[in-house]
Amino acid sequence: MATTTIDHWIDGAPATGESERTGPVYNPALGVEQKRVRLASTEDVDTAVESAARAFPAWRDTSIAKRQQVMFGFRELLNARSGELAAILTSEHGKVLSDAGGEIARGLEVVELACAMPGYTKGEYSENVSTGVDVYTLKQPVGVVGIISPFNFPAMVPLWFFPLAIAAGNTVVLKPSEKDPSAAVWMAELMKEAGLPDGVLNVVHGDKVAVDALLEHPVVRSISFVGSTPIAQYIYQTASANGKRVQALGGAKNHMLVLPDADLDLAADAAVNAGFGSAGERCMAVSVVLAVDAIADELVAKVSERMSRLTTGDGTRGCDMGPLITREHRDKVAGYLDVAVDDGATLVVDGREVEIDGAADGFWLGPTLIDRVPTSSVVYQDEIFGPVLSIVRVDGYEQGVEIINASRYGNGTAIFTNDGGAARRFQREVTVGMIGINVPIPVPVAYHSFGGWKDSLFGDAKAYGPKGFDFFLQEKAVTSRWLDPSHGGLNLGFPQHD
Ligand code: NAD
Repeated sequence: MATTTIDHWIDGAPATGESERTGPVYNPALGVEQKRVRLASTEDVDTAVESAARAFPAWRDTSIAKRQQVMFGFRELLNARSGELAAILTSEHGKVLSDAGGEIARGLEVVELACAMPGYTKGEYSENVSTGVDVYTLKQPVGVVGIISPFNFPAMVPLWFFPLAIAAGNTVVLKPSEKDPSAAVWMAELMKEAGLPDGVLNVVHGDKVAVDALLEHPVVRSISFVGSTPIAQYIYQTASANGKRVQALGGAKNHMLVLPDADLDLAADAAVNAGFGSAGERCMAVSVVLAVDAIADELVAKVSERMSRLTTGDGTRGCDMGPLITREHRDKVAGYLDVAVDDGATLVVDGREVEIDGAADGFWLGPTLIDRVPTSSVVYQDEIFGPVLSIVRVDGYEQGVEIINASRYGNGTAIFTNDGGAARRFQREVTVGMIGINVPIPVPVAYHSFGGWKDSLFGDAKAYGPKGFDFFLQEKAVTSRWLDPSHGGLNLGFPQHD
């Protein structure tokens, strides 16, 4: 068993907490347990929430200029030291260093948005709604907020939330994934270095015990969650039942529709990048290519040719694709390949046969391509969350959209075509939250909000962008009348409209 144990971060310092439970943190490229992580008890979560609650009044009352200074400081430090964070991501998650760098770059965008907080947190003013009466709205922080994040973006997903929450004057308890928890603590330390007062950002590690403690804690005012659909639904229901604001982003199964007039080289490059980047462990990964019959054979040939050039191995060695997060997950993903064949699909590239540039015990599965996947198969229906790309052949645009709209998920989708009319119809007709037109992974920039439809997002609160700020702010409407002797003095009655 590993000897290093990853501590919580409470009140600006490492904390061991009371719980004696710990969980394994692997190096997925080596296939070994490299550390243990503490798994918080309910009391440990209470301690973190108390720290955040103590820090709240002073942080809420800290000037916008000072809060902004901290965010700018954090932005500079994160930019300068992103290599350290990338190394942590690769070591615990397994993604290759270039993917880790990409993750940090997307997270940094949200930090930059947090620096622009004055424009998003200011209220509105209506002068003279009635004679001598003004009405204005104030946007104020909600208080202590909880954030629960998944394993697949251990830096970026926390960065979708805590910079905005903190910039808006809230204090935070973050529960990162217990599978790759170090990035969260590293970022909390960096926030302290940037001048954040102790207690404003706390990190507690843990599993369901810690999550439930946050969901039920009366002082926690809101929950921001990203993870799989069943847990997102549970979080949405439980936190709402406890009177909290909730944003709960769930799983995905993203389709890419390729029409016969598309540039097939562009489409094949896109399918390979979007299918196998981060080993397919991305909520915006393309996992199904809907290929119109007329070009399907050619597209499959182009995709498999490109796949033969991908290298799979240790993320520190310049490979294209790393391992999966755990051995169990790798085995589960690999299990779908036999199911696909049993269900009548054709295994074009079998990732189990890949040559690895890395340790024999790593959690490997190479890029896999399955053609003619029936939509009745679980291989089509389940979110596999690995380097498995399915081809479903369709007879044209209409059938493609029908399949996309019948999916229970609605996170992202893309169309590849040179027909502007078809693209315009597509953006209007698909029941999906984020659309790419000749763009395979349409993750919006930080100043537009991120979120899916259907089982990919519970509730209506999206992440980051203007809606991300709104989630962390509550509005107060003030109706005000001041004594003005030149207009006959103070009238204490309710304002009459004139
Ligand atoms: P997960 O749902 O297993 O875990 C997410 C978080 O919930 C973790 O912090 C975990 O500790 C906690 N958790 C797990 N089981 C729990 C339970 N029974 N009760 C309470 N809490 C529990 O997800 P994951 O495997 O870490 O991440 C991958 C999933 O996240 C995929 O489904 C992916 O699509 C999704 N995801 C979605 C988005 C999005 O924006 N929609 C982004 C990234 C990841």
